[in-house]
Amino acid sequence: MQHFACAGCHTSMTDMSICETDGCTSQWEMMTECDCTDGQHGAGKEALVVTDANGNILSDGDSVALIKDLTLRGTSQVIKRGTKAKGIRLTESPEEIDCKIDGTAIVLRTEFVKKL
Ligand SMILES: [Zn+2]
Ligand SMILES: [Zn+2]
Repeated sequence: MQHFACAGCHTSMTDMSICETDGCTSQWEMMTECDCTDGQHGAGKEALVVTDANGNILSDGDSVALIKDLTLRGTSQVIKRGTKAKGIRLTESPEEIDCKIDGTAIVLRTEFVKKL
């Protein structure tokens, strides 16, 4: 849904408005038009920090290993703990990464992987 968001504190409004948040770097500035669905208001796609279960930063191309058995969504196939995925890709979400395991494209939650 279309909305307006403050670039400083990410407060969002459905109508065009100015930010009134005390201490916000953009206080009293016009909010910018936005139509994000993730509540991030397009902020920090560049600065998105994705971390594994241990808090290590993940980047495109890293290899990870599962730290628990996972059942593939919609199937009964289980991916075992310790299974490695090479060449991960970050996604729009800091909680999910794209990767391939045995040639199958899979989305993994970062809380279930560790960087190798
Ligand atoms: Zn603000
Ligand atoms: Zn937004």
